[in-house]
Amino acid sequence: MTSKPKLRVVALILLPLLVLAACATSPTGRRQIIVLPEEQVDSMGLAAFEELKQSTRQLRDPARVDYARCVAETILRSMDDEDLSRWEVVVFDDEQVNAFALPGGRIGIYRGLLDTAENQHQLATVVGHEIAHVRARHANERVSTGMLAEGGLQVVQVLAGDPSPRKSQLFAALGLGTQVGILLPFSRAQESEADALGLEFMARAGFDPRESIPLWENMQKGSGSKPPEFLSTHPAGDTRIRALGAQMPGALAIYEQARRSGRRPACG
Ligand SMILES: [Zn+2]
Repeated sequence: MTSKPKLRVVALILLPLLVLAACATSPTGRRQIIVLPEEQVDSMGLAAFEELKQSTRQLRDPARVDYARCVAETILRSMDDEDLSRWEVVVFDDEQVNAFALPGGRIGIYRGLLDTAENQHQLATVVGHEIAHVRARHANERVSTGMLAEGGLQVVQVLAGDPSPRKSQLFAALGLGTQVGILLPFSRAQESEADALGLEFMARAGFDPRESIPLWENMQKGSGSKPPEFLSTHPAGDTRIRALGAQMPGALAIYEQARRSGRRPACG
């Protein structure tokens, strides 16, 4: 018996078990399919980040790097169950209007986004949104769903330590599609969830959630001839602004509470 049919048999036996074990709930109560162990997705995120650091120049302007780090770390520090020491924040010297956060605790912010976000609150909007994708395990959900759709064979291979899915597909699943030329946007449900959670995260850190609306409006409009890279992997129509408006009273209450308890970030 060759190894492939054997794997297929294992997959047939394991698949129903995996699906049974796979039902998870996101932080907003949405049902999710999660089959990969968290550590596996974390190491995918860490490996992708190392590759990006090899291939993309980092910004050398200490004031702007400190500004971006301050915003990201202020959000992370305000999350009670988050360990700041596991996170690394890097600012890339590239004009794309983009940012990402990866499982494993890595954040990348591009110089173009620092130019587009008009103040620390607007930058916190995007960074909070990205951290929310990680906290809600959206990459794991996406890889898990894709693998189940392919019959479960790859799940077994990956669990057995054979990462056969091509690297660029993994990058895309992690939300890094623009970096490898594969557009795999987050789903509408994942985007709405990242918006809602991100708004909460920024408000809890003392950033003004009302600034999220001009930020997304500016993003939507785009600057110059091409739309911001961020929107190609994080699509959201007009529904985004409407949903944010509906969530604003709750976010403002969190923000006022944060201000009262002395959270008044002054990053830049
Ligand atoms: Zn998103």
